[in-house]
Amino acid sequence: MKKLSIRDCDVKGKRVLTRVDFNVPLDSDRVITDDTRIIESLPTVRDIVDRGGRLILMSHLGRPRGQKNPELSLAPVAARLAELVKNPLRFAHDCVGDEVRQRVAAMKDGDILLLENLRFHAGEEENSPAFSKELASLGDIYVNDAFGTAHRAHTSTVGVTEYIPTRAAGLLMEKELKALGEALNNPARPFVAVLGGAKIAGKIDLIKSLLERVDALLVGGGMMYTFFKASGLEVGKSIVDEKYLAMCKELLAKTRPGRGRLLLPVDTIVAQEIDDNAPAREVSIADIPEDWIGLDIGPKTVDLFRAQIAGAKTVFWNGPMGVFEKPSFAEGTKAVARAIADATDRGAKTIVGGGDSVAAINLMGIANRFTHISTGGGASLEFMEGRTLPGIEALCDVAEVAG
Ligand code: AMP
Repeated sequence: MKKLSIRDCDVKGKRVLTRVDFNVPLDSDRVITDDTRIIESLPTVRDIVDRGGRLILMSHLGRPRGQKNPELSLAPVAARLAELVKNPLRFAHDCVGDEVRQRVAAMKDGDILLLENLRFHAGEEENSPAFSKELASLGDIYVNDAFGTAHRAHTSTVGVTEYIPTRAAGLLMEKELKALGEALNNPARPFVAVLGGAKIAGKIDLIKSLLERVDALLVGGGMMYTFFKASGLEVGKSIVDEKYLAMCKELLAKTRPGRGRLLLPVDTIVAQEIDDNAPAREVSIADIPEDWIGLDIGPKTVDLFRAQIAGAKTVFWNGPMGVFEKPSFAEGTKAVARAIADATDRGAKTIVGGGDSVAAINLMGIANRFTHISTGGGASLEFMEGRTLPGIEALCDVAEVAG
């Protein structure tokens, strides 16, 4: 169902309560080390204030667990945002209460007010009705532009929406829904998904769900060794999650080597320590020596994966192929990143999600060669699983508004 966009709302003179994701990394001096999330919010911020909306921004930062914590104040974000927008911007030292109400009442069209960290109140994560009601009283229109938190039913993503009849997607949220929605519901085929990372627990549901929908699912990263072990191979000291052996076995039974949709690596890089200086070897997955650790996909697997990606018209990628933080074990991740970037150049729609994959392509300087880089790690995984995200469900459907 298409969601109402902020572009379709008349915001002039209205108080537009907008959930953004300003959860930026700060160093020990509370200096913002990466302002990407602030920059990403600018199209929505500008759209609202340029049309005379009174913009009230709210976000969380870190995990203060319901306590006021000056180290997690959004004040540095307010300062950075003020440098980026020309409209008058104020910062409130709380997100509810008298000071906030007074500041909101004093706002003029085009003004911006950034509220203090929502998670200084336990009510935010508890989705408390009292906190929801108080926060909701600040806005005439609700906008959610924080895709990365849309999978959480918190006050600022769900609770407040009970009290505000007009609930729209911001421009960044809209971009996410369009790119991911197309891959989920109507992908140009062949549709190839590439999944990596260490923790199989966080991705097993996605693996099951994608297997029903993709033309090929390529699995690398630490997760692959649980599959190998499940198929009876020795994996040495590689990471294995015993809890998922039975499930992996079940999934493997549905595919045959070299056939079917689930494609696993055929070789791997092994070392005796997770250390750049440790001697590393390429071995077939059937020959992982005892006491050695599998830390990356091998060159034959890179060729296999590259061929699949080269033929794809849609690619979804989440998770590194190996311990990419160490240059000795980063080649697989880099090769996959390059193959996907090449696919974009040939006209495929390519989507990357998850902090590690995005970090890898940023390090390689090729972030501009992907169709869409999702701002939501966990949220993009749940979305691609086909699950309903509470923060998205809470927005108005276009049909609902038209009717
Ligand atoms: P995840 O949080 O599950 O997405 O996993 C990301 C992490 O997986 C990264 O920090 C990688 O270093 C790690 N990783 C990838 N491949 C392996 C592997 N073969 N063994 C251990 N960790 C891995």
